[in-house]
Amino acid sequence: MNEQPTYDVAIIGGGPAGYTAGIYAARASLKAAVFEQGMPGGQIATSDTIDNYPAFPSISGAELGIKMQEHAEQAGAQIIFEMVNSVHIDKAGEFDVETDSAVYHTRSLIVATGAKPRLAGFKGEDAFRGRGISYCATCDGMFYRGKDLFVVGGGNSAVEEAMFLAKIARHVTMVVRKDHFRASRGMVSRLLEHDNVSVRFNTSIKEVDGGSLLNRIEFVDTINGNTNVEEFPEGSFGIFVFTGNDPVVDIVRDYVELGPDGGVVTDDSMMTKTPGIFCVGDMRTKQLRQVITAAADGAIAGAAAYRYLEQLD
Ligand SMILES: Cc1cc2nc3c(=O)[nH]c(=O)nc-3n(C[C@H](O)[C@H](O)[C@H](O)COP(=O)(O)OP(=O)(O)OC[C@H]3O[C@@H](n4cnc5c(N)ncnc54)[C@H](O)[C@@H]3O)c2cc1C
Repeated sequence: MNEQPTYDVAIIGGGPAGYTAGIYAARASLKAAVFEQGMPGGQIATSDTIDNYPAFPSISGAELGIKMQEHAEQAGAQIIFEMVNSVHIDKAGEFDVETDSAVYHTRSLIVATGAKPRLAGFKGEDAFRGRGISYCATCDGMFYRGKDLFVVGGGNSAVEEAMFLAKIARHVTMVVRKDHFRASRGMVSRLLEHDNVSVRFNTSIKEVDGGSLLNRIEFVDTINGNTNVEEFPEGSFGIFVFTGNDPVVDIVRDYVELGPDGGVVTDDSMMTKTPGIFCVGDMRTKQLRQVITAAADGAIAGAAAYRYLEQLD
């Protein structure tokens, strides 16, 4: 396999955490590479608008992601569009980062692999993924123009994405497990201003079925357990699931400690229990998973990687 030059720091993940780490590491004159397997920006690239990021009251997620990538490049970080398959520690306590095409050597590692959508857990969910079930409104919403949609979830992401879908779909039905939304009141009010949005509280989906596409949903009343089956013509509707995200920790699982939420435990400098491995952003155990907190983690780790390497020299 192709041997590549040594980096001071390899950053795995081109979301807000990874690109910010790249900016801080490169500005500290470290030779930094950011590995990204997909679109620049991570989760924000799949979100229609991003709220709560200072100076941008509302910006398209795709635009913010590209701006972050460009900023990291301007600072001097190299962006490598490859998926990292594995990470190994050598006898000197340095790291090999393996992709399909090469092995990259690095003196330190910042892992920023983010989070991925959690399944809602109903029967048939996996089988109909991509055939009527989706986890990304920006990516798949357009396939449902003028159709009926069910949005599963009651948190901020579910409400935000439902607002986007309401502009495309004929009707959006929110399927909320509890008797209230978890999302902020302001967002819920904005959602309910749409004429084509309704809510089924105390409801979840038990099972879905169909032919080549979905045609049947079995709902369950979460209070009394009663079920009811609704059938629709194939291709006339879809289900979007926004029930939270799980940290993506696979490539460093053997080298880190995990917290109760499945995220990686770090110290204040974002260092894990393995010297030289820092973890940042949504993959880290934390209370608030947002762009601003991911970027803050990246900044801290970029600066900490510099101090770590300086103390080794
Ligand atoms: C629908 C939705 C709406 C949201 N809206 C907002 C909002 O309005 N405001 C806000 O502040 N936050 C919002 N968030 C949360 C925000 O998107 C996340 O907190 C933030 O993106 C986390 O950044 P991150 O860099 O830690 O991880 P991510 O954004 O998840 O990025 C991780 C990156 O790592 C890459 N990666 C993973 N594994 C590998 C590998 N092995 N090799 C190479 N690359 C890899 C992934 O492709 C991805 O690009 C939203 C999230 C969602 C899902």
